[in-house]
Amino acid sequence: MKTFNCSCPGQPSLFFESHTCNACGRVVGITDEFESVQPFDLNEEANYFVIEGVSDRAFKKCKNFAQYNACNGMVDVKLTKEEAATEAEAKNTEDNEYCFACRFNEVVPNLNVEAHVPLWQKMENAKRRALYTLKALPLPLNNNEEDAETGLTFEFTVDRNVKDHFVSKLPHHPDVMTGHNNGNITINLAEADDVARSKTKAAMGENYRTLLGHFRHELGHYYFDRLIANNPYKHERCKAYFGDDELDYQEALDQYYSNGGAPANWPENFISEYAIMHPWEDWAETWAHYMHIIDTLETAQSYGLLFDKNRGTNQTLSDLNLPQDDADDDISASFNRILNSWMEFSVVLNALNRSMGLQDAYPFVLTEPVRKKLSFIHHAVHNKTLLLSETPFE
Ligand SMILES: [Zn+2]
Ligand SMILES: [Zn+2]
Ligand SMILES: [Zn+2]
Repeated sequence: MKTFNCSCPGQPSLFFESHTCNACGRVVGITDEFESVQPFDLNEEANYFVIEGVSDRAFKKCKNFAQYNACNGMVDVKLTKEEAATEAEAKNTEDNEYCFACRFNEVVPNLNVEAHVPLWQKMENAKRRALYTLKALPLPLNNNEEDAETGLTFEFTVDRNVKDHFVSKLPHHPDVMTGHNNGNITINLAEADDVARSKTKAAMGENYRTLLGHFRHELGHYYFDRLIANNPYKHERCKAYFGDDELDYQEALDQYYSNGGAPANWPENFISEYAIMHPWEDWAETWAHYMHIIDTLETAQSYGLLFDKNRGTNQTLSDLNLPQDDADDDISASFNRILNSWMEFSVVLNALNRSMGLQDAYPFVLTEPVRKKLSFIHHAVHNKTLLLSETPFE
């Protein structure tokens, strides 16, 4: 994530989630380009917002921003039919009600239940952060209005009672399984409840379980379909790294649970215990880590926190200068630099957390086989599979 600043005196920091500037009180948001969080001035007479120095655009708050503070999206106010000077302009006069991020939503929880609202806000924050990194990478990212066949949609649904932290079942509500199905990502609202999520985390023996992690994992399944499954060459290469994903999924699942999880040596080859269950899960888990690494390093770099020990200066990973349209030709070397920085930086990150009496932020070990899988994903993201002709594991 990048750093953002207000334009008011002292240029205070704005966060990706900010709705207002604490110093000047102006509305703060992000346009459909989804690049930077910035202040907006209200033109009271016309009742729309403008950006300082931008004269040809007007904005209004996304409906979810205006009603629920569930996002900070600012959508363009277009000309009215009467104002349109050309036919092309006249065709394009319908304002979007929702912002870039909210237009991916297919189902949101019942917001008449007051306690759903703060949980849904957390859900939206995690979703928007996941989308931000995707958008900065050279990846296809369309909602199902833009692309009916392969567009992405989200469903945030509920099957249990928010009042008892999602213990009791709601009558007449089918079970909600968090997962991905053909472009549609479902996340159970219970995952946004700290009590419910911590319980599941402890019950599953996991050392990391976050909303953001869920989004990135399920998005991994989505991009497997978009980038790998439809391309026989890439699919073959992928199997060399992640194993044969044409294994029966249900059988693998049954076997995983009847064995009581993964064998003890799983950390040698997998990023998480769950990744061993099926090659699809290995891909999705590794994809999520790739996104965690890129986002966190981008944040560290934006705050000037990546140091080059040898030179005693701030390190700038040009490979991390998002947005990226196209990567370096020497993409393997560039990803090695990214991973080496991550190995160093994640130690600092964990040490900082321990100083605060918190658990490690990144309780994972990146072994050589896991690094290779991450590198495969980096190549897939940048559409550079040809360089992966060598045998991955020898
Ligand atoms: Zn300000
Ligand atoms: Zn929105
Ligand atoms: Zn999965």
